[in-house]
Amino acid sequence: MVYHLLRKILMMRRLRYNFYKMDAEQLHEHQQKQLGKIIKFAIDNSPYYHNVSDKYDELPLMNKQIMMDNFDKINTMGLLKSDLLEFSKTNSMNLYAGKYSVGMSSGTSGNKGLTVLGPEERDNYTAVLFTRKGFPDGVKGKRILFALRRNNPSFMEVGKFGIKIVYVDYTVQASKIIEKVNNLKLTVIAGPPSLLIEIAKLVDQIDHRIEVIISYAEVLSDDIKNILEESFKAAVVQIYQGSEGFIASTCRDGFLHINEDLIYLELEKYDDKVSRVIITDLYRTTQPILRYELNDILEIDDERCICGSVFRRIRRIHGRSDDIFILKDRDGNEVNLFPDYVRRSIILASDNISNYQAIQLDHNHIEIRFEYTGDDLVAVRDEIVMNIRSYCDKLNADIPNISFSNKLAEKNINSNKMIRIKRDF
Ligand SMILES: [Zn+2]
Repeated sequence: MVYHLLRKILMMRRLRYNFYKMDAEQLHEHQQKQLGKIIKFAIDNSPYYHNVSDKYDELPLMNKQIMMDNFDKINTMGLLKSDLLEFSKTNSMNLYAGKYSVGMSSGTSGNKGLTVLGPEERDNYTAVLFTRKGFPDGVKGKRILFALRRNNPSFMEVGKFGIKIVYVDYTVQASKIIEKVNNLKLTVIAGPPSLLIEIAKLVDQIDHRIEVIISYAEVLSDDIKNILEESFKAAVVQIYQGSEGFIASTCRDGFLHINEDLIYLELEKYDDKVSRVIITDLYRTTQPILRYELNDILEIDDERCICGSVFRRIRRIHGRSDDIFILKDRDGNEVNLFPDYVRRSIILASDNISNYQAIQLDHNHIEIRFEYTGDDLVAVRDEIVMNIRSYCDKLNADIPNISFSNKLAEKNINSNKMIRIKRDF
């Protein structure tokens, strides 16, 4: 017990040091050393990796589907996917076999993902969450409301660090959540942006000051971030994590940095700004995460941050690669229109637009939905069409048909996430 606590405290000190004090050379050396260790560990202990080369570049690429198809061979503890899936249906609050936390994510297309953490990995996770949750300096007496799709033991332990955490399922109505926030005097609210926006609409009902808003699980676009900051009059920080790991955290100056001491990053460029990302978790051993292709597309900022960290910043999370709009250029070739450009085409048309969604139905048809409180809907629609057209022109793409629907934006039925820009074919 004492050993555990000591280990965690040391880990937290190191995490804090790494984030702000590591220089580029130290980071490079650290990554190379850990990569060597983690690859060797996988070769020695994971049947799936038994015969692969120990050179990073020659490791096979991994993704969610391959992970799930080969889970029994990839994990290093002889765990069986069927047992874990069965266990996670009923025992999400307990540890499997008394020591493994089991998380299950349901993807937007309904494909499930399994995450297993052993005891040391749980400690590490807790330490990362605690040191890198991005609270600005000076936030005291943290009492957090954490909205989760379902409870996961990885999160439960944070309560041990003098922080009070209340979990709530994020399908609960915003008004009920506010009751909890008031009754328990919670000062930090963490949840997906689509829920935070609903709470923001009722912000007048909160009877005390909220110090920090934490956003995760869905894309936090600049427009939504601004609304949250203005409504809650609080700092809005972002945690970017998936079942693949704790990928990025907000620094003390409010920028999102890749946790490069924990995650090794490979970028596959779509164009000069936007990249697809392949990650390797430098520490996970129960379920090695090696050259794992994320579905997200990111814009990486190479400029050094004012906070002093050499960890690279994420300028923007564009969304999932599955949601890139695919248009045809004049020669019939497919070209990519990235989700963030579609998003901007809509929100820049008017300040009175909210709760928007754009769905590409086929190569030649985009449906747009939004709520509007102004008095010139026709002009706003024209403006949106013009904005999208100007992006299409830059791509040399055929202009798709753009239709407007009175339907409301809808969450994905499998993952319960709000995906504002989505491709449906
Ligand atoms: Zn920074």
